[in-house]
Amino acid sequence: MITASEDNAQPVAGATGDWRQLWRESVTDARQLLALVGLSHLAERLPENDAGFALRVPRGFVARMRHGDANDPLLAQVLPQLAETEIAPGFSVDAVGDMDARSAHGVLHKYHGRALLIASGSCAINCRYCFRRHFPYGEEIAAAARWREALDYARQHPEVSELILSGGDPLSLATHKLRELTDGLAEVPHITRLRIHTRLPVVLPERIEADLLNWLQALPQQVVVVLHANHANEFDARVRQACAQLREVGCHLLNQSVLLRGVNDSVQALEALSEALFAAGVLPYYVHQLDRVQGAAHFEVDDARALTLIDGLRQRLPGYLVPRLVREVAGDASKRPL
Ligand SMILES: *Cc1c(COP(=O)(O)O)cnc(C)c1O
Ligand code: SF4
Repeated sequence: MITASEDNAQPVAGATGDWRQLWRESVTDARQLLALVGLSHLAERLPENDAGFALRVPRGFVARMRHGDANDPLLAQVLPQLAETEIAPGFSVDAVGDMDARSAHGVLHKYHGRALLIASGSCAINCRYCFRRHFPYGEEIAAAARWREALDYARQHPEVSELILSGGDPLSLATHKLRELTDGLAEVPHITRLRIHTRLPVVLPERIEADLLNWLQALPQQVVVVLHANHANEFDARVRQACAQLREVGCHLLNQSVLLRGVNDSVQALEALSEALFAAGVLPYYVHQLDRVQGAAHFEVDDARALTLIDGLRQRLPGYLVPRLVREVAGDASKRPL
């Protein structure tokens, strides 16, 4: 058995379910967020109605923002901006071109050998640059029927060896829900790897509690957890502890980030991110060029600059700390390297 308080780097919420309470206590009001970080004078620049995409951010993430800094890289990821309301040519509401497939079946099988399951529509944080801003599908879509569908699909496709749980955030589901799925996988032996795409260990590390760790440890499949952090400041002792606990139960930890103007578009910021990841036992995997969704244009970094940044990174870091710069292109057989 793993206990949540094994590593006492910081006081840890003990009982299972505390993370739900923290989730409920998230900041959802832009004025309140500005007040918490000492920037109330910026309230007059807020867009009406959060520019059509609700603000949501856990208080632990807010605590990692620099007080009084209007350009804080964590604040920039979650604060509604007037720029989001500008219509930008070339930016659409379905930039990845597969929203229909995503919401209708839940299983996306675009690449050889791995199938991606939209396990949940919920996230603990609303990132302004995300395609979800146009599809904030309400609550959990992982009904029992969804698991059955996914398991049937996996059974019928012996060439698939890796099941990817994505979303939304799959760790927003209760652990017993996740267990229902993996119990079903016992009858699908050709699935040898389970991958979990999640931002929760970074934005709400309290989610990594004993029950979740016990579930992960007992899985017969190899488990890969792909985190999503964009800036070194997203890591604190509590997040590093969550990562360490995941590693202790045998998970391989990778990170994907999005290249975002004003957040991480400098060699220095990307280098610090890679260093912070490795210090937490996480390897950088992908850095994504932004999906061109309406409302996110002000975050875009053009390809030429993106390549220059990665080149600068390559001159400063060992190869294993340089993420692959990619873009998702509808119809491709993999992410497209730049
Ligand atoms: C991104 C993605 C994957 C994972 O791709 P990797 O290159 O294996 O990380 C798998 N399926 C779909 C549909 C995806 O969009
Ligand atoms: S956590 Fe991921 S899926 Fe959720 S809003 Fe942020 S980028 Fe989008």
